[in-house]
Amino acid sequence: MKILEQLYEGKAKQIYKTENSDYVVIKYKDDATAFNGKKKAILKGKGTINNKITNHFMKILQKNNIPTHLVKEISDTEILAKNVKIVPLEVIVRNVVAGSFSKRYGVKEGLSLRQPCLEFCLKNDSLGDPFINSSQILALNLAEKEDIEIIKTYSLKINSILKEYLTKLNIKLIDFKLEFGKTKEGTVILADEISPDTCRFWDINTNEKLDKDRFRQDMANQMYGYEEIYKRIIEN
Ligand code: UDP
Repeated sequence: MKILEQLYEGKAKQIYKTENSDYVVIKYKDDATAFNGKKKAILKGKGTINNKITNHFMKILQKNNIPTHLVKEISDTEILAKNVKIVPLEVIVRNVVAGSFSKRYGVKEGLSLRQPCLEFCLKNDSLGDPFINSSQILALNLAEKEDIEIIKTYSLKINSILKEYLTKLNIKLIDFKLEFGKTKEGTVILADEISPDTCRFWDINTNEKLDKDRFRQDMANQMYGYEEIYKRIIEN
């Protein structure tokens, strides 16, 4: 399908229009950002790895009846995806305490939560993605009640599927962020990415960090997490 002009450029991806308005092309970049864009770098090869990791997870989810935007892989860094209107929410699912949750509630990083925890943030960089609850989402007309229910159900199901899959590869799924979109027919589907940029992954035995925290925390070998996750999922 012919790729036309760029529609949007985000921190880690670019979206291009195609001849058919039902589809877009998504291109992954090597740009890394953290702390709401304050910290920036180029991590060579990250775009390719994140594209491949995301597509691998999306295919597993599709097999488990989670609808996703992935149509097909086009190149190392590009996919053809369904054109959706992104629901302006970031859905965070947590299994183990880390990051902002640890600071906010004064709980030690690494504590396993009694049950998975789900949070909604408003997707708005200039406001720093503030928390938002279902009542506020409805009042602000950001999503329909049924959409919120579907998003909650899918998010917890995605957590179970990925947690079980990753455990077999000796990877602990600490937390992650999802985004959903609505097709023009009104169906809610999973969009965006599922990669070491949007998930925390720890080695199950050593608790070694295998994700963007290596970049956030200026740790050595910032590409190591991306490469290690790629190796474990692709070689198994
Ligand atoms: N996350 C993300 N994008 C965001 C905020 C969070 O992908 O804008 C991911 C993050 O990588 C982690 C999870 O969501 O896997 C929970 O992040 P947290 O709320 O702890 O925020 P952080 O500590 O990363 O600021």
